[in-house]
Amino acid sequence: MGKLRRSAQEIKMQEIRVEKRELKSPTRMGGIELHNETIIDLYIDRCASFSDFAVCWPELIRSCSGNGLYGIFTCYCGIPGCAGAERIEVRHRMRTVNWIMTFPWGRDRYCFEKRQYIDTIKACGASLNLEAYPLAVEEFLDFGVS
Ligand SMILES: [Zn+2]
Repeated sequence: MGKLRRSAQEIKMQEIRVEKRELKSPTRMGGIELHNETIIDLYIDRCASFSDFAVCWPELIRSCSGNGLYGIFTCYCGIPGCAGAERIEVRHRMRTVNWIMTFPWGRDRYCFEKRQYIDTIKACGASLNLEAYPLAVEEFLDFGVS
């Protein structure tokens, strides 16, 4: 029991926030000009995180459903490798959702409270107005990504 409590305390939880942004004037993102489209901003501990990447909304939603490899980040041009994006290993635990991101230089791990993770994604989903502002990134393409 003491051991369990200690390991729970060692887990550093991060807060994730997911918000839509409707581009009402032409905006260059990752070298691509976007206009009248929705992009997804992702914040971890209130910092704009992974701002070099485009968020692939359908994959982010899917990551709520269970363990797997999800292409949450990609490039605005649609080719993940262009931005150096790889799929994220997502592991669901009883109360947490964990991300394991592999880069050529190593691994990054993130631990989110599951309820908070799902709530922020659901709230963002409910706010989307995709008829007026379609998603800038609609799918995670597989070219060059293992
Ligand atoms: Zn690109």
